[in-house]
Amino acid sequence: MIELRTPAEIDEMRAAGRFVASTLVALRDAADVGVNLLSLDRLAADLIKKAGAVSSYVDYHPSFGAMPFGKVLCTSVNDAALHGLPFDYRLKDGDLVSLDFAASVNGWVADSALSIIVGTPNTADQHLIDTTELALAAGIAAAQPGARMGDVSAAIGEISHAAGFSVNTDFGGHGVGRTMHGDPHVPNDGRPGRGLPIRPGLVFAIEPWLMQGTDKIFTDPDGWTLRSLDGSRAAHSEHTIAVTEDGPIVLTARD
Ligand code: MG
Repeated sequence: MIELRTPAEIDEMRAAGRFVASTLVALRDAADVGVNLLSLDRLAADLIKKAGAVSSYVDYHPSFGAMPFGKVLCTSVNDAALHGLPFDYRLKDGDLVSLDFAASVNGWVADSALSIIVGTPNTADQHLIDTTELALAAGIAAAQPGARMGDVSAAIGEISHAAGFSVNTDFGGHGVGRTMHGDPHVPNDGRPGRGLPIRPGLVFAIEPWLMQGTDKIFTDPDGWTLRSLDGSRAAHSEHTIAVTEDGPIVLTARD
């Protein structure tokens, strides 16, 4: 079911958006060569506790997960594309890390992700990250009242294909509200002019993710982490947005 939020509800959702944004900034600043993924997860858990927020991940147990997630942060390193389960690993020079974080504040969820390179950046990795960010910006710009969800999908797909990447549409954006994953599904490729009409009050996450050499993934033996089939690196960018009469607002904007 697709629920439209009132302007007052969207105002209430801003607190979750700000918290998720500030936590991702803290995590991005903390991520460095030699830092353990488990300490990034602990930092996120500490910030959740301090803010009185609630993790959307720790008890998360959908059909595609082998067991409850058990952590509060997704850390996807190098060939890990999505849902990276933090484990005892110290980041190495040149690692490409995607941090995906969702939490609720006052009962409303926000969900956002970013990718960074720790230590010495590699041009191809930076191009991959830049493309997901451009695709995210194009998707947000297309989320105008009166447009259709296919316009958002097509905008993401167009940027991705133009940069030379193929797109996996198994996982994409989603409605966000009292829970992390709701309708509608927002595929990362599609045809303009098709799909759900975008109306004021629609709140959803847009999350392009790309892999350098493939659009195929497999699940790591940890039961959660999705890796590129060919071992090539992946990047992921996500924001939660609210559509208003005046256009989209990025609830998880980082200043
Ligand atoms: Mg997310």
